[in-house]
Amino acid sequence: MESQLRNDVSKEWWSEGVRFECQGSGQCCLSRGEYGFVFLTREDRKRMADHFQLGIREFTKTYCDKTKGYFHLKEEKGRDACVFLKGKKCGIYEARPTQCRTWPFWPEVMNSKTWNKEVKTFCPGVGKGKLHSAEEISKNLKMQKSSELALHRQRKP
Ligand code: SF4
Repeated sequence: MESQLRNDVSKEWWSEGVRFECQGSGQCCLSRGEYGFVFLTREDRKRMADHFQLGIREFTKTYCDKTKGYFHLKEEKGRDACVFLKGKKCGIYEARPTQCRTWPFWPEVMNSKTWNKEVKTFCPGVGKGKLHSAEEISKNLKMQKSSELALHRQRKP
């Protein structure tokens, strides 16, 4: 994982940038094995609570579940989809969690094997639209990594 976070990105497979533009498929908002849950830091919950003009406790009680001490968004029963997925669109796009903002530039998928075997096969946005520079990708990787560290710090068993 550390290799994706080096300051020198010139040796990474994505050093020339990667084309990605969300096609609104909603695929990344459905449960997918280990990528199933949308985990939430306290900052994520606060931003979403503000969006609904709720207190963070009320937001958490209404929209979140906890698994192994980590808060995550509830899923719609019977559909394994995020509770905020409306049709194929995010119903809280402006306030969406960090995990959704940084997709698909996550440390655990930015290796060529996972990218080609997994991400490319279910995300129709890969290879389309805007070319994201190595700097942008690196920034997203760092943001996601820092969010993951916060999640571990904030874990409440
Ligand atoms: S919060 Fe929005 S972008 Fe994130 S999984 Fe739910 S519907 Fe998708």
